[in-house]
Amino acid sequence: MSEALELAVDEFNGKYFINEDYRPLAEKLRAKFKELQHVPVKHILFLENREDKRKKAQHYVFAQVSKISGKIQDILYQVTGHTYEYIIEIFKENVEAMSREQIILLLYHEMRHINIEGKIVEHEINDWVCMIDKLGPNWATTKASVPDLLDEDINWENIQGPPTLFPEERLRVVK
Ligand SMILES: [Zn+2]
Repeated sequence: MSEALELAVDEFNGKYFINEDYRPLAEKLRAKFKELQHVPVKHILFLENREDKRKKAQHYVFAQVSKISGKIQDILYQVTGHTYEYIIEIFKENVEAMSREQIILLLYHEMRHINIEGKIVEHEINDWVCMIDKLGPNWATTKASVPDLLDEDINWENIQGPPTLFPEERLRVVK
């Protein structure tokens, strides 16, 4: 069950915006995918960075996950009553063109960075091999439709790879 953080400030126009709307999506992903079952969603803060158009090696960075320092964890616990260990930071400007399905894939991608011991781990290559295998390397930037991981009918295990995922007739521009 999702337990949203009670925010004391309704409207905030600063750079780093806590957005609780990602939490139920992350909870659903955790419930559906066994490889995410250890991810402590209730200890994650979902933060939109509304200003930086982060790039790394010429590529846009869509999101990143980081561990909150012990000091900040203690401060957050005292001011909120909740324990927050991780931040998933979403670069709002860079995800503007993404579809709902791509945002869900992005959350899946970021959650995979938290391993079973709670450490932040890197991908095998520049992405998770399973995502490239099943979705192709451009899942985050393609304008073609990508599967909705939270759709009941989507069985990740049975996704065979780009040829079956992107049959010619399904290619279309997502607006
Ligand atoms: Zn990553």
